[in-house]
Amino acid sequence: MTAAGYDAIVLGAGAAGLMCAATAGQRGRRVLVVDHAGEAGRKILISGGGRCNFTNTGTAPDRFLSANPHFARSALARYRPDDFLELVARHGIAWHEKTLGQLFCDGSARQVVDMLLDECARGPVDLALGRPVTAVDHGNGLFRVAVDGREVAAPRLVVATGGPSIPKLGATGFAYDLARRFGLKVVEPRPALVPLTLGGDEALFRTLAGVSAEVEARAGAGRFREAALFTHRGLSGPAILQVSSYWRHGTSVAIDFAPDAAPGWLRQAKRDSPRMGLARLLARGLPDRLASALADRLALDGELGRLPDAKLAAAEQALAAWAFTPNGTEGFAKAEVTVGGVATAGLSSRTMEATAVPGLYVIGEAVDVTGWLGGYNFQWAWASGWSAGQAI
Ligand SMILES: Cc1cc2nc3c(=O)[nH]c(=O)nc-3n(C[C@H](O)[C@H](O)[C@H](O)COP(=O)(O)OP(=O)(O)OC[C@H]3O[C@@H](n4cnc5c(N)ncnc54)[C@H](O)[C@@H]3O)c2cc1C
Repeated sequence: MTAAGYDAIVLGAGAAGLMCAATAGQRGRRVLVVDHAGEAGRKILISGGGRCNFTNTGTAPDRFLSANPHFARSALARYRPDDFLELVARHGIAWHEKTLGQLFCDGSARQVVDMLLDECARGPVDLALGRPVTAVDHGNGLFRVAVDGREVAAPRLVVATGGPSIPKLGATGFAYDLARRFGLKVVEPRPALVPLTLGGDEALFRTLAGVSAEVEARAGAGRFREAALFTHRGLSGPAILQVSSYWRHGTSVAIDFAPDAAPGWLRQAKRDSPRMGLARLLARGLPDRLASALADRLALDGELGRLPDAKLAAAEQALAAWAFTPNGTEGFAKAEVTVGGVATAGLSSRTMEATAVPGLYVIGEAVDVTGWLGGYNFQWAWASGWSAGQAI
């Protein structure tokens, strides 16, 4: 941290903050990036199992949740996955596509952090890491930030401190407190991309811990065809993490355990294999333990040939929309992201500037824009960071 006057102060040296600082720095802006963590980009480092799923080729506004589903459109259109890929290529970072358009580093997520730091170093960008922000004030066109007891000031302040998911990595609700102080609204933050917990009668399913199956999971407007995993606390796996972002307390999650089955499949099986029992039939498409648990719960004993069609039709329906009513989630401690955040209604979708507080910007996960699992959240961090970086 130098004594020089800064054009902008960026709070948070995560994905969005680093992208914003690098973009602005390369436009000649003098930028100070402040973070209370001793290391930049800690979430990037642990993301994607250490390989950072840094974007998704299927990026489109409908893969993001927000009170205003149109808000993310502008930034996502201005800074696209291809733009990030160009950056990655310039830094010689090798990558591969996994499933569903998800792009990962071949090597390590550290390459992405090093790339962002290198991009920051190409402009007049200072980093103040391991420095807590103790106060933020605004007056006479300047934002004054107390960093570790010392005051720095700049005409522009970018809030890039993320959401409260995974507090042990330094995540806080700081952005929300700051936004409220400046009169911005905050959409209730909830843990998202998070395992769901089961209790009561459904706790029995916890005995299936470790069993996974390809399903279609549905909650609210969310519908995902991926793997679900039973855990010792409830439900997890990509399909469940995805629907968790749409799930609300007190509602249920519907799981289709036979997403490829044709209508009437159980009645057809009765004609084709009348001597077979339900558990054995289900085990053709599902792990044995899950097939037995579902058959037990359906309480259809004996050979299929002896079961009435009406009961088989009801079982088909039950298997296509098995309703679990989670009693909660594993919370911010285990959530990959936060749904909700600083309300988009108070921000410009082009620059991320607060309309009522000129010079104040909010970017990244702190904003009420949340992506699906699969690289979408980083793409939002890059796009919103770049958009603000062009404006400050
Ligand atoms: C385990 C895990 C794996 C993930 N994997 C992926 C993935 O593969 N692909 C994907 O797209 N997304 C992934 N995500 C989500 C992704 O990490 C976030 O969406 C993204 O990091 C958000 O970027 P951000 O810059 O807004 O916030 P962050 O990256 O969280 O950065 C915020 C920064 O602000 C700092 N900060 C917080 N409070 C203060 C304060 N009071 N004062 C000063 N500094 C502060 C923090 O220390 C942090 O450095 C993952 C998340 C987790 C937790």
